[in-house]
Amino acid sequence: MLKEAMKQGYLKALFLFPHNNIFEFHHVSDCPPVDLSPRKIKTEAFYRFIESHGPYIPAGDIVEKKELDRTGAITFDDGLEDVYRIAYPFLGEKKIPFTIFVLSEKLDRPGYMTKAQLLEMAADPLVTIGSHGTDHTKLGEADEKKQRVEIIDSKKQIEDITGRECAYFAYPFGSYNEITLRLAHEGGYVNAFAVKGRPLTRGNHKDPYTVPRLSIEDNTLRYYNPA
Ligand SMILES: [Zn+2]
Repeated sequence: MLKEAMKQGYLKALFLFPHNNIFEFHHVSDCPPVDLSPRKIKTEAFYRFIESHGPYIPAGDIVEKKELDRTGAITFDDGLEDVYRIAYPFLGEKKIPFTIFVLSEKLDRPGYMTKAQLLEMAADPLVTIGSHGTDHTKLGEADEKKQRVEIIDSKKQIEDITGRECAYFAYPFGSYNEITLRLAHEGGYVNAFAVKGRPLTRGNHKDPYTVPRLSIEDNTLRYYNPA
């Protein structure tokens, strides 16, 4: 209990230091037609959040960025249909870059993006397509054979659909272990993203395969919208 309170205090204090932020979203919708993730942000809250943070650069670029000046990067996990329908037009109009981590075997399923939608977005210079694995496996608990499928096979499947290199990975549930990190490197990814509830500060993102992100959903908004 005390340990958890200290951890929360430490994470909060990190925002007092110079930092950049990588935001992680799932559903952007008031009422998802198929509710595939409990993690969602209402449409208006999403618009407000985006407008009150930034400027934004692609997630891959922010990892390389030396200056810590509250620049943001936007990422979406799971490849949900409402991201195409609601978030994409909004961000596109504002010329804000973003990354989508898709599940290669969920494309064309109800509630997820179609392959045609993915192809359309992949052709947009604002959009980067990364992998989230094939079927949303907790990698930290999977054996090496399964992790290979999730990390290495999904990359190939996504590249076959988009015709572009898939250079980024995001761990489902933020879960990974030693095998995961080795395979992310071996598979040729440039970066892999975790969920650590903390910003990028001077010392905490040296490892290209455990890049921290902040999950933004309706019930975490208060942490990142200091009054
Ligand atoms: Zn996910």
